[in-house]
Amino acid sequence: MRKAIILLLGCLTGAYCSKDYTNQRVCRFRTGDVGEVRRKVGKYTEAPVDIWTRNPEFVDVRVPASLVDRLEGCEVMIDDLQETIAQTYPDPATQPFLPFNDNSQSQVPEVRPLDLTSSLKATNDIFFSQFRDLETIYTWLDLMQLTFPDLVKIELVGQTFEGRDMKALHISAQNQNLNPDKKTIIITGGVHAREWIGVSTACYFISRLLAGYGVNKRETRYLDRLDFLIVPVFNPDGYVYTWSHDRLWRKNRQQTFYPRCFGIDIDHSFDFQWTGAQDFPCSEDYSGEAPFEALESESWNNYISEAKKEYTVHGYLDLHSYSQEVLYPYAYSCDALPRDLENLLELSYGLAKAIRRKSGKMYHVLSSCEDRGSDLTPGLGSGSALDYMYHHRAHWGVQLKLRDTGNHGFLLPPKFITPVGKETYGALKYFCDFILNPDL
Ligand SMILES: [Zn+2]
Repeated sequence: MRKAIILLLGCLTGAYCSKDYTNQRVCRFRTGDVGEVRRKVGKYTEAPVDIWTRNPEFVDVRVPASLVDRLEGCEVMIDDLQETIAQTYPDPATQPFLPFNDNSQSQVPEVRPLDLTSSLKATNDIFFSQFRDLETIYTWLDLMQLTFPDLVKIELVGQTFEGRDMKALHISAQNQNLNPDKKTIIITGGVHAREWIGVSTACYFISRLLAGYGVNKRETRYLDRLDFLIVPVFNPDGYVYTWSHDRLWRKNRQQTFYPRCFGIDIDHSFDFQWTGAQDFPCSEDYSGEAPFEALESESWNNYISEAKKEYTVHGYLDLHSYSQEVLYPYAYSCDALPRDLENLLELSYGLAKAIRRKSGKMYHVLSSCEDRGSDLTPGLGSGSALDYMYHHRAHWGVQLKLRDTGNHGFLLPPKFITPVGKETYGALKYFCDFILNPDL
């Protein structure tokens, strides 16, 4: 009762209302067999089993606290899930642009371009001090476009099931002499709604690329010779839902054939090696009933195939969490050999090394199929954005799973936004240098 009152008060005073995960924990099992863990946990619960991460060495899964003693081999990684969730939401007092989130004001907040010295840095320092909701992120994108009108264009990729805009930022110095082929790097974040650190990192990349152009040699070189297409929030409906209803939501919010279950896993929806759903629509990995059924993947396909067809995509970087891994294609099968493997491995290890040099953090390099478990269970890696982009559009493609290694999992506290941004921006610079290397 007391808790209900506190929650209600929290909602009334403007805090974020979200599904309650009191008495839930996250267990780690030392096995690479995700099917075994699903069966073990599924025996005791009717709810879909929420696998947090897996790799060849371990599987992390959310479980009710009452089960922990009965599940042999469970190492508790997160003891108080509800408290860990609460610490990821920002203090409303730290909003970078007032009057954001003040729904009582019907006026759209006025945003003015920043002068390019201290106020840009000050705004970004506040912006990156906390995770930000969709409205704040989209206003920040507007601000970047207003401040850097010669470099930035916001483009509409498509609309979501709930009618939200899916936005891409096209960054380019439009230097036709130095980039006659429209060489492009594409970066996506937030395909999975709860992986907030991927969203903040994509925004961090935007801030560094723009602030450095005409100031630093490297950024000037990159933007003169490369175009960047960055989608910080690939799954706007899911992202909004993690702020308003359920911090641990993963899929989009699309209606399925089963009325009680919403959401398709966008990263199983792309039309490359797509396999039909073995899972029920309630499952976290539900792929839909046909390729590109998820509106986000379908819109993305149209956008890059039509609106962007003359751009030559040299690099694709998909930001996820967590595990600290650099994953190279393919996800769907370990039998499928990627082209140019030697150079792809050089790129992947180079990205990991660039991160280690910045922060000392270890990121493991492995094939996406091993990470997904599709070597053991066919179908687990089907229809991924990485495979689709690598096969159809991008010469080089990797997925980065960002921090951490499981202490917070998806619930990384906001103090890590900038450190993760910095270390992976080191990797992005390596990626740009790799693509611009004339010997390749
Ligand atoms: Zn993910």
